[in-house]
Amino acid sequence: MSKILAITNQKGGVGKTTTTINLAASLAAAKQRVLLVDLDPQGNATMGSGIEKRDLPTTVYHVLLGSNTLQEVRRRSQVGKYDVLPANRELAGAEIELVDLPQRETRLKDALQAVTGEYDYVLIDCPPALNLLTLNGLCAARSVMIPMQCEYYALEGLSDLVNTIQKVRANLNPVLEIEGLLRTMFDPRNTLAQQVSDQLQQHFGDKVYRTVIPRNVRLAEAPSYGLPVLYHDKVSKGAKAYLALAGELLNNAAKSVTVK
Ligand code: ATP
Ligand code: MG
Repeated sequence: MSKILAITNQKGGVGKTTTTINLAASLAAAKQRVLLVDLDPQGNATMGSGIEKRDLPTTVYHVLLGSNTLQEVRRRSQVGKYDVLPANRELAGAEIELVDLPQRETRLKDALQAVTGEYDYVLIDCPPALNLLTLNGLCAARSVMIPMQCEYYALEGLSDLVNTIQKVRANLNPVLEIEGLLRTMFDPRNTLAQQVSDQLQQHFGDKVYRTVIPRNVRLAEAPSYGLPVLYHDKVSKGAKAYLALAGELLNNAAKSVTVK
């Protein structure tokens, strides 16, 4: 069965998309079969996977509204070696159109059921909002990865997100759990970042990934070439960090199998 992860944080610009793309490519490089789901009308994960969002006849929007199947819409990221359920601006309309449809929160979950045996990992890039699109991501997922910057307001936003996850678990998706918190754009010379990072570890213990993603210019420039950082500069600190994160995930998965 696929491991389905929603990469989410309602705060904008914390590294959700960068994490989704580069984790997808790093897991694929470790021989995992990966599907990336772009749930953001910005379409950044689509573009960053080397797929032109403006040329797409169908997108995740059509899957959510039920006019096309996931199998018809998915594309191959040749550069990343994973599959993509792409998105573009059209998806912004889904928010309103979904409201009157039955099972509006579980449409992605239902669509994924048809392909679950085909992938080891499904990574869902959520938009920076706690809206119906994000809810679809949270209902489809078994766990949540939360990328965050270690700055002053980060912990405050985190409690809103944890509340939302608890509500989703109570009402819509009882198996949902927090897979982990990922420190992104980390600068160890910044004292405040270090303090927030310490607080995170105190509150969340081993839910905080050991891997830390450093601030790295290669990570920021790779999307402009439509490439995961691994294929832009594989020896960069950013590429190594995301390979390490993939390793940590695979290790945790192996451990939980042994424990069971
Ligand atoms: P949004 O909420 O708009 O969807 P996001 O949470 O998906 O944003 P990203 O788009 O991944 O965040 O990152 C925001 C910006 O920061 C981008 O320009 C990205 O290239 C840059 N960035 C992300 N991670 C890093 C990093 N580790 N080092 C340097 N730049 C980074
Ligand atoms: Mg994003």
